[in-house]
Amino acid sequence: MSDKLAPGLYIVATPIGNLSDLSPRAAATLAGVDLIAVEDSRVTAKLLRHIGVKRPMAPYHDHNADAVRPGLIARMASEAVALVSDAGTPLISDPGYKLVRGARAAGIAVTTIPGPCAAIAALTLAGLPTDRFAFLGFLPTKAKARETAIAEAATFRGSLVFYESGPRLAATLAALKAGLGDREAAVAREISKRFEETVTGSLAELVARYADAQPKGEIVIVVGPPSEAGPAAGTDVDAALAEALTRLPPAKAAGEVAKRLGADRKALYVRAMEMKG
Ligand code: SAM
Repeated sequence: MSDKLAPGLYIVATPIGNLSDLSPRAAATLAGVDLIAVEDSRVTAKLLRHIGVKRPMAPYHDHNADAVRPGLIARMASEAVALVSDAGTPLISDPGYKLVRGARAAGIAVTTIPGPCAAIAALTLAGLPTDRFAFLGFLPTKAKARETAIAEAATFRGSLVFYESGPRLAATLAALKAGLGDREAAVAREISKRFEETVTGSLAELVARYADAQPKGEIVIVVGPPSEAGPAAGTDVDAALAEALTRLPPAKAAGEVAKRLGADRKALYVRAMEMKG
């Protein structure tokens, strides 16, 4: 179990809630490295206690990464260094890609030990298309930036995956419905933990469900692709068109909304002219 590993960088995925999800290879890697770069040593210490391992840890997080990265990469030339995050796969809405890039630039061997990732786990629960999906992580907190990010994602013809927290869930669902139309979606909460729950429905149904019921815990939102026939709820299209018509002539307003909601541009132009007249 504690065979010493060759020098290099080891990216180790850890559980997202259920310690039994740590793979045997991940455990052996954590036991065999000289140093573990961690987000929070208290969280990783708990994991190491679970597998009966003691290894030196060094903090590596958003606030110190630039300062400590060169030293960590220098050590990788002669030592095995693991990178873990508090939960799940490092680099996925977590620090690490610059460490991997720096290690590669320095000719260091990089090995990954794949494992849990909340985005992928949520996709397996949602019952929405998985052949094409885009991961958008956490949306911006400011309304305008969030609206822009959603508008950019609106034309993607696959499922969309977002990370979110309980306090912001209701506002985010409402923003998704306004920007994407009333698509099918899922809210996956506390995956692999005691109070795991996945709620599916249209975005309108999910908005209504969570409007006054802020859920606890960690959350992934999955939104299905735009329907081939265009968005189902005419009111969303009308609202988007009405807003666009305050800024743009009918043809341009129809073009913008068609792109954003994945709807038919000609039909929207006709509707825009009706609304104008
Ligand atoms: N690197 C992690 C991964 O591979 O999923 C993600 C880290 S990100 C900082 C943390 C976010 O992931 C949470 O706010 C939540 O959106 C999502 N998440 C993590 N664990 C989760 C769980 N057990 N159930 C649902 N969402 C989870």
